[in-house]
Parts: sequence; C-alpha cells; structure tokens
Amino acid sequence: MSSHPEPGSGRTTVVLFTRDLRVHDHPALSEAADASARVVPLFVLDDALLATRYARPNRLLFLLEALADLDGSLRALGGHLVVRRGDAVREVLAVAQAAGAHWVFASADVSAYARRRERRLAAACAEHGVEFRTFPGVTVVEAGAVRPAGGDHFRVFTPYWHRWRALPLRPLAQPPRRIAVPDGLARGVVPRLSELTVGAASPQVVSGGETLGRARLEAWCRDGLARYPDRHDVVAIEGTSRLSPYLHFGCLSPVEVASRCLARGGSDAFLRQLCWRDFHHQVTAAFPAIAREEYRPRGERWADDAELLASWTAGRTGYPLVDAGMRQLAAEGWMHNRARLITASFLLKDLGLDWRLGARHFLDLLVDGDIANNSGNWQWVAGTGNDTRPNRIFNPVRQALRFDPEGAYVRRWVPELATVTGARVHTPWRLPAAERERLDYCAPLVDHDEAAAAFRRRRST
Ligand SMILES: Cc1cc2nc3c(=O)[nH]c(=O)nc-3n(C[C@H](O)[C@H](O)[C@H](O)COP(=O)(O)OP(=O)(O)OC[C@H]3O[C@@H](n4cnc5c(N)ncnc54)[C@H](O)[C@@H]3O)c2cc1C
Repeated sequence: MSSHPEPGSGRTTVVLFTRDLRVHDHPALSEAADASARVVPLFVLDDALLATRYARPNRLLFLLEALADLDGSLRALGGHLVVRRGDAVREVLAVAQAAGAHWVFASADVSAYARRRERRLAAACAEHGVEFRTFPGVTVVEAGAVRPAGGDHFRVFTPYWHRWRALPLRPLAQPPRRIAVPDGLARGVVPRLSELTVGAASPQVVSGGETLGRARLEAWCRDGLARYPDRHDVVAIEGTSRLSPYLHFGCLSPVEVASRCLARGGSDAFLRQLCWRDFHHQVTAAFPAIAREEYRPRGERWADDAELLASWTAGRTGYPLVDAGMRQLAAEGWMHNRARLITASFLLKDLGLDWRLGARHFLDLLVDGDIANNSGNWQWVAGTGNDTRPNRIFNPVRQALRFDPEGAYVRRWVPELATVTGARVHTPWRLPAAERERLDYCAPLVDHDEAAAAFRRRRST
C-alpha cells in the first residue's frame, strides 16, 4: 500500500469491486469516500473470467443479484454502481481516465488470477499517472500477515489457528455516509444470466446480495451460533450458518462475521471455520498453482474413468449418503461440509479418481465455490494438501450412521429410498430381498472395504 491520501481532497477515486460486494466494512470504499470528493464504484464483468469454468450459472446468478443489491445500497447513499464488460484492466483504466481519477482502489485477493490482475492494474495505472492501492477485506487476517518462523506461510492448521486467534480484529470500516459519482459517466448495464452463460441455475439456489447476507448473519447470531458446536456435523439439520456464498462474494465482511460472533460470546468452533477459510487463502497466496498441482505430491496415479465419474456426479454410487450429498449439490449449489468430506473421500479413495475431476465438478455447481477453499479442501481430502493424516479414509456407512443417525438426510435427497425407515436406509444392500427389489436404487459401485484396502496398498508402495 502507498501513502494515505489527503482527507477531503477534491480528487476522484475509482473503487474496483471484485468479490467484495458490500458497503459495510469495505475498507477500500470507506477510504475512497473519506479521502476523495467523488467516487466511482465500478464492477467489470471480466471477459477473461467469463470464458473460464468459474463462470457457471449458480455463481453468476448469485453475482448478478449481489450487483443489483449493491447498486441499490449505493443509490441509497446518493451514488450508483458503474458496470463495464471487457478486459478488467483496460476497463478500469478507461473509467479512471474518463473520470479524471487520481486513485484506483481494490480489495487484495489471493488467487493466481487476482494477483496477476493486481500486478497488471498497478503497472497500467503507473503508466497513466494514476495511483493504485489495495486494501484488506477478503479475509479476516490478510494472507501473509502471520508467518511461521523461517517460512512464508503456515502449512499446518493448528499453529496457524493459535496465531490467528491471538490477533486483535481489524476495526470495522464505517460504511460511507454519502457517495458522489462524477457526472457524465455511463452507468452501463448489468446483463441477464442468459447473456453471460448457457444453462440454468440449480432449482433451489440461494439468492445473492448484501441485504440478504446481513439478514442471514443476524438470524444466525441470534438462533444458530450458540448451538453450532453440537449441531454443525449433523447433515439433516440447518446446524451451520450457510454464510459461505455471502462470504465468497464478499456480501459479508469476514471481519464483521468474526466480530459479531465474538460479541455474541460465540464459541471457538465457529471461529475455527472462519480461520480455515483464511488458512486456505494464505496457502493459495503462497502456492498459486493449488487448483492444478499437488501441494504435497505423493506420486499417486489417480484414475480418469468417465463412467465412474458420471455415476458419482449423478449421485448414483449406491452409497446413500454419498448420493444424497451429490444430489443436494445439484439441487442447491451447496452441500453440507460433512457431506463434502464424505463425497470427496469416496471419489478419491473408493473410486481412485483424480481430485481435480471432483474439484472441477464442485466448482461447476457450488455457489460458494472458490479456488482457495475448494482446491485446499480437495487436496486436504486427497492427502496431497495440509492434512496431517494424509491417508485417512472416510467410511461412507460409518459416517452416515454417525452424522445422519435417523437417515433423514438420505430420505430427503434420494427419493428412491424414501420408504426405507430409520438407519437401515444407509445399507440398502442389507435389506430383505423383497424390500430391496421394490426399490429403484442402484447397487454399490464398489465394495468400500476392498476399495479402502486397495487405496492403502497404493499409498504404502
Ligand atoms: C471437498 C470440499 C470442498 C469445499 N469447497 C469449498 C468451496 O469451494 N468454498 C467454500 O467456501 N468452502 C468450501 N468447503 C468448505 C466447507 O464445506 C464450506 O465452507 C461450508 O460447508 C459452508 O457452509 P456454511 O457456510 O454453513 O459453513 P459454517 O460451518 O457455518 O462455517 C462458517 C464459514 O467458515 C468457512 N468454512 C467452513 N468450513 C470451511 C473449510 N473446511 N474450509 C474453508 N472454509 C471453511 C466458510 O466460509 C463458512 O461459510 C469445501 C469443503 C470440502 C470438504
């Protein structure tokens, strides 16, 4: 970051929004409003990103809703959102020049793409006499802000958590009282989903935007947080916050979520999860190839079997809890964390498929899908990431009996098994033949014990 601008100067600042789509606790926006007479709140629909796998209907729909909500909040402050489409750097520069801007501000981010965009922006701004500055806002603790002795990032979670937990939270940035956008700038239009991508969003995908995110946070702190330690692993209930899409798009500030949780006397269990998010972000900042390359290569030769992959993505593996998770993902663009662990472990350790195949499918559908959390968690489950027990295998039946003891989650998502009562639903192959034959449910793709033994053999050679 460069020097602090003079407060109240008559200058103009472009605030480039990326995945920080809010007005509350937005350090770049607050600083711009304090330090300059005019602010251009800008979002660029980036052609480079729109051409990638990242641009899928579930996330794009959420993004468009979040942009509409952000525009509404900015209007309430006297401003509005300016929207452009094209190359992010070129568009920012064009807007900065049209507005006669002195500064361009943005929230710092960690992915390889975001870092490249920042470097390009810094260079392009410098060339045209505009000052570019980045601000915190995407994580609670900025990537690289805490480091282990002799290293550039933490490779193991627990020591990171101890350091993270001991840090004071950054004070919340106040939302601007007023935004004055310079005259004469075209507003640009937020396109419709069909103009950005082919295909429809999942039927039950959550709606985006800061307003909804804040309402959800409020309700979560009031009704859910205190019971999180006992309920967060139970897949059949709403025992987790479901704030992840709002955190991913920055409709909520992670610092505000942490501070609201602390103010409520929230237990460490929930804060730990926010810390996991930061942990994967600081790993990604240090290892930007995380979506493609193994962080800790183990020489594993993962398989690439289109038929097995198709059964897994369709939720037709014959393991009810795995299938329930995959169908929840298809229907909602979200999956419970425990189900993510079980479905991922099944793909890797029961089917032997490459973690990148699973991660890509998750990224196609998850509304909260991001490079750091998705790749970091997939590599954790694959044992190529930051798990200190890299050979662990989740037994899909034992996990199901423990975290869906009544079978309610499976019955909700796998209608073929809706008539099977109690925990028997987790082992349909053990049902009496007459009952089994009445069900239109697939046989298990593999025998878990045999697959697990084969995986252990592969890992030990
Ligand atoms: C294979 C796999 C892939 C995943 N992919 C993603 C992803 O693309 N995006 C994503 O946000 N999360 C991902 N997660 C982590 C986790 O499953 C989700 O963050 C969580 O389920 C979101 O639900 P929630 O908001 O109710 O979580 P809560 O339990 O209420 O937790 C609060 C917040 O903490 C963060 N968090 C929780 N668990 C984790 C975790 N293990 N790693 C990182 N952050 C966490 C999330 O931001 C979450 O919103 C993945 C986990 C696995 C096992």
